[in-house]
Amino acid sequence: MLKKISIIGGGLSGLSAACYLAKSGHHVDIYEKNNSLGGRARQIQTPDGYVFDMGPSWYWMHDVLENFFADFGKKSDQYYELISLDPQFEMVFSDGTIQIPKDFSELTKLFESMEPGAGKRLNAFMEDAKIKYTVSMTNYIEKPCLSLTEFFTLDIFKSVMKLNLFSDFRSFVRKYFRHPKLIALMEFPVIFLGAAPQSIPALYSLMNYGGLVLGTKYPLGGFFKIIEAMQSIAIELGVKIHCNCSVHKMTIYNDQIKSLQVNENQIITDLVVASADYHHIESLLPKDCVNYSEEYWDSRSLSPSTLIFYLGLDKPLPGLLHHTLFFEPSLDQHLHELYKESKWPSNPLFYVCCPSKTDRIVMPHNHENLFLLMPIPAGVSDKPNLHEYYFELMLKRIEKHTGFTDLKSHIDYKKSFCISDFIRDYNAFKGNAYGLANTLKQTAILKPSIKNKKIKNLYYAGHLTVPGPGVPPSIISGKIVAKQILRTLD
Ligand SMILES: Cc1cc2nc3c(=O)[nH]c(=O)nc-3n(C[C@H](O)[C@H](O)[C@H](O)COP(=O)(O)OP(=O)(O)OC[C@H]3O[C@@H](n4cnc5c(N)ncnc54)[C@H](O)[C@@H]3O)c2cc1C
Repeated sequence: MLKKISIIGGGLSGLSAACYLAKSGHHVDIYEKNNSLGGRARQIQTPDGYVFDMGPSWYWMHDVLENFFADFGKKSDQYYELISLDPQFEMVFSDGTIQIPKDFSELTKLFESMEPGAGKRLNAFMEDAKIKYTVSMTNYIEKPCLSLTEFFTLDIFKSVMKLNLFSDFRSFVRKYFRHPKLIALMEFPVIFLGAAPQSIPALYSLMNYGGLVLGTKYPLGGFFKIIEAMQSIAIELGVKIHCNCSVHKMTIYNDQIKSLQVNENQIITDLVVASADYHHIESLLPKDCVNYSEEYWDSRSLSPSTLIFYLGLDKPLPGLLHHTLFFEPSLDQHLHELYKESKWPSNPLFYVCCPSKTDRIVMPHNHENLFLLMPIPAGVSDKPNLHEYYFELMLKRIEKHTGFTDLKSHIDYKKSFCISDFIRDYNAFKGNAYGLANTLKQTAILKPSIKNKKIKNLYYAGHLTVPGPGVPPSIISGKIVAKQILRTLD
């Protein structure tokens, strides 16, 4: 029988769940508290013509997005043009820079030039990473992870040894490479996984494959094009979208949610997919209905939050690529302060995205669009006076790298976004930007469950549950939960 399904939150996971559920004919409504869809992948448009993606900027694992579109008989190129960046990105060290070419054979040459034998070892590393990527994508990533028995299959049994689940990323990378810059290049994606490389399973070398080999892409018009595309598919399938609609309460009777309080209104519902941050959703439930206690949440390791600046410059800034990683200080010191000491970094690494190098639409003519991002611990106290301190520090490093002086006097748009903004805008647990850390203890069935154990018609999606944070996993999360619901409704 067709159901009236309410989705709380219109980010990537909520939109994805909505599309799959509506495709099966159910009546789906999305309630989103902000004035546009997208969640952490929202967009700012300024009156002067700047267009800033507020969150994601690395389009990796493009096959996952293509699979999403294919599930609805579509292709990404019906919605946006995908550019392959070349170079993919630049890393800035205290004693030089490296640019990462798009072409893999050029990348092996670069490795070889920096460390004899490293070119060949890069091939071996990526062959292994490709196996992990393929096995994870085919056997693991779409599992609902409600029971260990899901993993008792011959294919999984045969593949498990190939995944290096029990060795750590740091030792794994060092088996192949010795040059500190090559190690930094291979380890950098781990920063956003929420733990130091020595605490992350070597399985995650699959990210090196999903990025460096499959390539770094950019959707012309910005990342929000993905949201617009998903929104358009959802509307075509009959999903009703309600922005500026915050869910405040769920009314439960006989172990079932009967209605949601959306702003001032009671909305009757048969089933709920909660795609807003998991902890926030649990805060809307009576205490005896939650899946996890406050102690549980406090004991979780979180991926970082971020201090971000969206900047407009009144003239072009030569010497900067689309993606630049400023890695002059030690990665280990920043990671230690991030994850062990949980404090604002003393000498931070940071990242700059300059999409206007690829895309004219995102800035007024002859201007520049910059996004500065510095990882900080989730849950650290937000100190606005520190924002300016770090802002000056990042500007100085950009000036040093580009040779452009007096950057400050050319800024004609500036907005910061930090922990308290994540909490205010997304009800983000401890102001997290990227969900839970991807440690072994927080993987698969050890992640918060997609199903409420006491309320029969409440499911969870989003980056705090399986498979985890990031644009592709969040889209998959919506698919997992929708498929699970459809299985139980059959
Ligand atoms: C700064 C930043 C940079 C990132 N960079 C990348 C990147 O380069 N590449 C990549 O792959 N990933 C990146 N990510 C991660 C990726 O953006 C997220 O993992 C993903 O967008 C999370 O989607 P979600 O649907 O789980 O959550 P969200 O996007 O947070 O969606 C949840 C929605 O629920 C809404 N909501 C909350 N409470 C309520 C309520 N009570 N009622 C109604 N609605 C509510 C929120 O407003 C929000 O819209 C980045 C994230 C951030 C923050």
